[in-house]
Amino acid sequence: MKDNKRPPLILSASKLGVSTKRINSKALIILNALHDADYEAYLVGGCVRDLLLNVEPKDFDIATNAHPEQIKAVLPSTRIIGRRFRLAHVHFGREYYEVATFRAPHDNSDRGQVGQDGRILHDNVYGTIEEDAVRRDFAINALFYNVHTDEILDFTGGMEDLEKRQLRMIGDPVARYREDPVRMLRAMRFSAKLGLNIETDSESPIRELAPLLENIAPARLFDEALKMFHSGQAGSVLELLREYRLFHSLFPATEEALQADESGHFLALINDALVNTDNRINDGMSVTPAFLFAVMLWLPMKQLEASYREQSFPDPQAMQHAANDVLSDQVRFTAVPRRFSNVTREIWLLQSRFNQKNCRRARLFVDNRRFRAAFDFLCLRSIAEEDVALQADAAWWEEFQKATEERQVDMCKAIPHVKKKRRRNKRRKNNGPAQ
Ligand code: ATP
Ligand code: MG
Repeated sequence: MKDNKRPPLILSASKLGVSTKRINSKALIILNALHDADYEAYLVGGCVRDLLLNVEPKDFDIATNAHPEQIKAVLPSTRIIGRRFRLAHVHFGREYYEVATFRAPHDNSDRGQVGQDGRILHDNVYGTIEEDAVRRDFAINALFYNVHTDEILDFTGGMEDLEKRQLRMIGDPVARYREDPVRMLRAMRFSAKLGLNIETDSESPIRELAPLLENIAPARLFDEALKMFHSGQAGSVLELLREYRLFHSLFPATEEALQADESGHFLALINDALVNTDNRINDGMSVTPAFLFAVMLWLPMKQLEASYREQSFPDPQAMQHAANDVLSDQVRFTAVPRRFSNVTREIWLLQSRFNQKNCRRARLFVDNRRFRAAFDFLCLRSIAEEDVALQADAAWWEEFQKATEERQVDMCKAIPHVKKKRRRNKRRKNNGPAQ
């Protein structure tokens, strides 16, 4: 690779507005300990990029020439993890920092291993700092910051890219996407989150290479999907993913339903939900993957529910079957863990409870631990589906939650009650589920 022969550009961090004051104190303890033991140690990757862009870094990753065992000798709270890459996690109680030994790029064919399709199979090979720089994904993610010398080392033109506000893959983009197709998703995330353009050569092969994502483990795609949709810029992420034909590999049922939905209600539901998620994240509030999946799979689930109904399955069962089918299909693409998909299912099944305005049941429902998520979902649906009856339901429940007990009783009395039980029993007798 030509990039690793270049001498680095060395810049003064403080002149670029980066000072150690903005660095987490525990990361500094690690850097100092390694430095005192005569090892090289740098902050690297996303944190250097973010410090230069004046964005709050998410985590502080460290790269060093010390091997994992040597790191452990200097910092005894280190745990060495990983089979594919041996990494040191330096613990401070439950919190830990990742300290990685400089690694050689995969294409050092006498050392690394690459599969037939170009994917990296094994790259736990130590290397020099230059080699470590060029095996990273984008040039802006390959900057090294030495806090002891106040220097930023740039082996790949990352500083120039930051000035141009562009995202450029190091080396040959096609080969690098083939090695690890997840880099295409990372391009979408960084472009959306940091407002960067993807440089032409890094951008142009993506649409064609998008199907390579099908070879990626669904567990990894789930993690990447969360990082993208919980980045605080989920609306832009969705637009980019669809524009570059990557969304289909993550949410195929959603993409198909979006394309078939002439009303535009489903896209409106997803967009409204993502605006909501972005606002929550940017306000430091919690979000759950269960909600994201409830939104993304709502129309596919409703379509399947309708077909179960056509086969004469009664109401709750039709939705239960549809929910199970849609969720078990989705895990083949993004492996959403059960603890989340169970909540997704609950959010869906609880939607019918908003019709039941009997006072005792309504109070029980408000106390249900999933009420809030189900209610938020109802509100989004009522607006996106432009459904006046749903909007009236949402307004009723909004008031009911806040009302005094007396007012709650009045609200329930004002609802004309239908004898639902008898009606349901009658329907069961007339047309039970097809066997
Ligand atoms: P953030 O933590 O803000 O999401 P980041 O760039 O730090 O962004 P991480 O996933 O924490 O992303 O990875 C740390 C660094 O490791 C990256 O900056 C990049 O240099 C390198 N890296 C991560 N994933 C890849 C990849 N798939 N291919 C090559 N290098 C990667
Ligand atoms: Mg990071």
